[in-house]
Amino acid sequence: MERTELLIIGAGAAGISAACAAWDAGCRNIVLADRLPCAGGILPQCVHEGFGLSAFGMELTGPIYAERLAERLTLTGVRFLPGREVMAVTKDKTAVLSGSGGMEEIRFEKLILATGCRERSIGALHVAGTRPAGIFTAGQAQEMINLHHWELGRRIVILGCGDLGMILARRFTLEGKQVLAVLEQNAHPGGIARNYHRCIEAHHIPIRYRRTVREIHGMPRITGVTVEDLDSGELELLPCDTLVTAVGLVPERELVRKLGEPHWLFLAGNCSRVHELADSAAEEGAKVGRYVGSQLVK
Ligand SMILES: Cc1cc2nc3c(=O)[nH]c(=O)nc-3n(C[C@H](O)[C@H](O)[C@H](O)COP(=O)(O)OP(=O)(O)OC[C@H]3O[C@@H](n4cnc5c(N)ncnc54)[C@H](O)[C@@H]3O)c2cc1C
Repeated sequence: MERTELLIIGAGAAGISAACAAWDAGCRNIVLADRLPCAGGILPQCVHEGFGLSAFGMELTGPIYAERLAERLTLTGVRFLPGREVMAVTKDKTAVLSGSGGMEEIRFEKLILATGCRERSIGALHVAGTRPAGIFTAGQAQEMINLHHWELGRRIVILGCGDLGMILARRFTLEGKQVLAVLEQNAHPGGIARNYHRCIEAHHIPIRYRRTVREIHGMPRITGVTVEDLDSGELELLPCDTLVTAVGLVPERELVRKLGEPHWLFLAGNCSRVHELADSAAEEGAKVGRYVGSQLVK
């Protein structure tokens, strides 16, 4: 069984920064594992600009930001294991990994969990009706459009006007699709002002506040949604062929849920709390990495 002083799960902005900082602090036996084939986490699918203002002093796209982080990683002796899904972490400080070469176990002294977050899906909402094709979470839609260049639909309704919803609304518009409405339960947008101005205002995308989706129609493909006005209770049928949900992110801590709070476990990035900016996830990762790394220097 392989042994390491520090195991980091997740090679997004937080995990890479944690690994580099732990190395800089003097720890020389670090393994960084990720289920994806490349480092960067969510960043490679975020092709828009708006990353790295505080870390690099300029606005970068997600993929370039990821490249810069990955370059820093190659300057260290951190052992990066891409294409490894961590299946379990046990109380006796062992992680079980699955990859194309089969299963492997790694024993560690300290663990930094940097597994990011997952999206709330339509299943988490109280929405009646069928569950046909044509419903995507924002992150799924972003990956399919930006990384695989798939066409998801033409007449789009987006539920949720946070940063993800706004960025997706602009993406669909730039792809020549019609965003019929971004529906928001609050009376104001949820994301940062920069995204509102650049994504919604600049592209004249209609937002409808105090609205939610109550029912989904269609089978096998979505044909429309029933929209509720949360103030008057009025219902309206909005025909569409695609529904994208951008209704919140949940820190991903499933791997350690049953472990309690062991002294050897640390969290960094979106799995600790959801960070609006990659710089902030990276900064937290670096702080945690520096602390844990210095504890491990013999
Ligand atoms: C659509 C979108 C747009 C954004 N736009 C901006 C922006 O304009 N500017 C900005 O600064 N920030 C933006 N952000 C925020 C920023 O990208 C994130 O806060 C930050 O990148 C999160 O980094 P992370 O390392 O915590 O998580 P992630 O990048 O999600 O990395 C987590 C990693 O853990 C891996 N992993 C999870 N579970 C396992 C497992 N069991 N085994 C192995 N590996 C596992 C995943 O594969 C992933 O690579 C945006 C985020 C999104 C989703």
